[in-house]
Amino acid sequence: MPFTTLGLPAALLRGVRAAGYQTPTPIQQKAIPLVLAGHDVIGAAETGSGKTAAFVLPILARLLEGRPSLRALVLVPTRELAAQVETAARDLARYTHLRCGVVYGGVRIEPQERQLRGEGVDLLVATPGRLLDLHGRQSVAFEDIEVLVLDEADRMVDMGFAPDLRRILRLLPDDRQTLMFSATMPPDLNRVATEALSEPVRVDLAPPSRPAAGITQAVYPVARHLKTDLLDEILRRTSMGSVIVFTRTKHGADRLARQLARRGHGVAALHGNRTQGQRERALRDLKRGRTPILVATDIASRGIDVVDITHVINYDVPHAPEDYVHRIGRTARADNTGDAFTLMSPEERRDLEAIERFLGMSIVRVQIPDFDYHARVASEPREPREGPGRGPHAEGGRAAPAARPAPPPAPPAVAHGRRLKRQALLERRNRRRI
Ligand code: AMP
Repeated sequence: MPFTTLGLPAALLRGVRAAGYQTPTPIQQKAIPLVLAGHDVIGAAETGSGKTAAFVLPILARLLEGRPSLRALVLVPTRELAAQVETAARDLARYTHLRCGVVYGGVRIEPQERQLRGEGVDLLVATPGRLLDLHGRQSVAFEDIEVLVLDEADRMVDMGFAPDLRRILRLLPDDRQTLMFSATMPPDLNRVATEALSEPVRVDLAPPSRPAAGITQAVYPVARHLKTDLLDEILRRTSMGSVIVFTRTKHGADRLARQLARRGHGVAALHGNRTQGQRERALRDLKRGRTPILVATDIASRGIDVVDITHVINYDVPHAPEDYVHRIGRTARADNTGDAFTLMSPEERRDLEAIERFLGMSIVRVQIPDFDYHARVASEPREPREGPGRGPHAEGGRAAPAARPAPPPAPPAVAHGRRLKRQALLERRNRRRI
């Protein structure tokens, strides 16, 4: 199915061509017509599926009709994702007059205020906390908002943004259109969704439990104290381009980055304690191939959109199977292929088995020939270390979720009998648009 059949205006189709997209991804095929028709949509999709364009394109199409004003709001959990979504929106809107903007915390608020108060934007991508700050300072007004997107909504709830989301929802016009994209539907999010969406249509994609087909996965069993040595060996012996190594904690990420740097690897760390400047530099250097290895926490596992990541390495086995899928989803994006390696100590075997149950497959165990698996000590003095679990430094404030053998239940589908009510709602919305 070509993009031209989706009902998008010519200026956006030019933007799509310029972005190099040939055919719409499955989420784009399903979601774009629904969003264009004014429906509220729940998209069970994650980063890598093409979901950004799936909501940005029909929103831009809507914004092309009507007067300039802040009419579309996209809420995202992290600064990286905010910057990425805005770049995608700007790219796709390049042949239109529409203005896109982005606001997030961790940087000065004044330039953001100047942009919002000065030239203004039609579509704003924002992290919830900074958006509320700006609203409190009367630098942004919501009365013209027609479309709201909650992107990576499960992550926003995980990160404790549910109260901020509720506060923002109360400030927005009731008759807006709401789109929610989320790989999972935890109970807290279900509650927010009930408040936020009106008669949503659900768009299901490949379940989040299935990693992209191009990813080759392997598990490297190893004693905990030898993990850095083994990682060093893997990095030396395997031909790699850009690599993301995941750790559970911020301190673990910093420590590992230091250890790898001491062994001569080009490496940077990315996590929530880094300043915005440091985070941007780390991603830029990875993208340009200047620093081939990025050590990151889970907070960075969503949203990072770096083409050509050849390897994802889990230094720790993630507690939650969904985190595993998100981490390894950083490789094999779009049509690429990639490898995902997981270093597993004996203490982590149960977590790994939970992941395998979640995936419905077992992952091959691999050994490196000539590596001394029985060494009593690591090859360099160890630094003091945290316990194996999610300590006080764990990111996102999440409690360790229980392993789940199956994906969470889907929210209820739209009942047949409600169609008339929905039709009336759509007509009301579409009248507002004209
Ligand atoms: P997303 O899931 O929105 O983070 O997108 C993942 C990646 O796929 C991004 O690098 C997009 O530029 C790319 N992408 C999105 N839609 C398409 C498409 N229709 N064809 C090819 N690549 C796409």
